[in-house]
Amino acid sequence: MIQQNPRIKIAVIDEDKPGGVCLTRGCIPSKIILYPAELIRTIEEADELGLDVELKRADFAKVMGRMRRLIDADMESIRLGLSSSENIDYYHAPAEFTAL
Ligand SMILES: Cc1cc2nc3c(=O)[nH]c(=O)nc-3n(C[C@H](O)[C@H](O)[C@H](O)COP(=O)(O)OP(=O)(O)OC[C@H]3O[C@@H](n4cnc5c(N)ncnc54)[C@H](O)[C@@H]3O)c2cc1C
Repeated sequence: MIQQNPRIKIAVIDEDKPGGVCLTRGCIPSKIILYPAELIRTIEEADELGLDVELKRADFAKVMGRMRRLIDADMESIRLGLSSSENIDYYHAPAEFTAL
């Protein structure tokens, strides 16, 4: 269990969905989509390994749906963590510096 230090207080400001670009539309969704593509390539080359396999169909809508489900679950988990921590003030809004 993580112990919370009541003296530490931070603000997290993000106008976009929680998790940053890496989770919402960068590293992680791209790898989730690439994984089935890698499997297709492996199946195409399986003959070299002595395996007689055939890909019947690639359901791209299902691939995208799985990706969105996984990403949505992670974003929701981060949103809950940010919103429920006593040490974090989470602002889902745009922000700007007004003075140095
Ligand atoms: C398709 C794709 C694939 C990628 N793959 C990889 C990979 O495999 N490996 C890797 O290391 N990197 C990868 N990246 C790069 C990676 O996503 C970024 O390097 C990383 O997200 C940067 O993190 P960050 O925390 O600096 O900023 P960000 O993730 O960009 O987060 C900044 C957040 O601040 C918000 N924000 C900005 N200005 C304001 C404001 N004024 N007020 C309120 N909110 C604001 C933005 O909306 C954003 O949500 C990929 C990127 C893309 C697009």
